[in-house]
Amino acid sequence: MAHRGRKLKGTAGLEMSDKHERRDDARRIVILTGAGISAESGVPTFRDAGGLWEGHRIEEVATPGAFLRNPRLVHRFYNLRRADLAERQPNAAHQAISRLQACRPGRVFLVTQNVDDLHERGGSSELLHMHGELRRARCERCLARYEWDQDLGTDTACWECGRTECVRPDIVWFGEMPYGLDLIEQAMSEADLFIAIGTSGLVYPAAGLVELALERRIPRLEFNLTETDASPYFSETFPGPATQTVPRWVEQFLTKDQA
Ligand SMILES: [Zn+2]
Repeated sequence: MAHRGRKLKGTAGLEMSDKHERRDDARRIVILTGAGISAESGVPTFRDAGGLWEGHRIEEVATPGAFLRNPRLVHRFYNLRRADLAERQPNAAHQAISRLQACRPGRVFLVTQNVDDLHERGGSSELLHMHGELRRARCERCLARYEWDQDLGTDTACWECGRTECVRPDIVWFGEMPYGLDLIEQAMSEADLFIAIGTSGLVYPAAGLVELALERRIPRLEFNLTETDASPYFSETFPGPATQTVPRWVEQFLTKDQA
């Protein structure tokens, strides 16, 4: 990620002049996805359950403090969610996004608040998980981050340094800094179109994206089950299941684009 960041920064000036010369196909899209898109694949959002899991508030199992106090509980929460992924399949909205990316290589910046791997399994190879990934682990001692498909526990030995009691899910918890904010900001500064799917967009820092888009006066599309408190910030809203609205929009966009 750090490497990609340097690369993006290093070529920013070049890309801008390039954009001026080729206005016709200069369109760059930033897509932000949230829990709503995965909910249509059956991934629990916890919002429906009043933000509770087995009587615990989600905040009680998703903070660095919770991990210090009760690592077993936190591991169990994420182990269950990781195992649950095997039961879930990417849906038509995930697939439509990957089709859009395939048709416009390098010009669709996909950032997700979701920690599942449904975008990847739906065919997206380039995306940023701003809140981390269930199928990754990280070490609090040596700071290594790596793919991890199994259950985690206090006795899990770090893949890099071999120590135990220091491996945690590679998830951005409440109060921690999301990943790739510099990359997101860079992508927003070059975007001609901003799309939010399955996210109310009211949670910071994601909420800042629609405000950035508003400041830059670029079109802002919202795909959500229903209108949200953030809807007034968007230039167009598409209420309904993302599995229906997103594929329809992508199809129309690509047809218009090629005409
Ligand atoms: Zn380690």
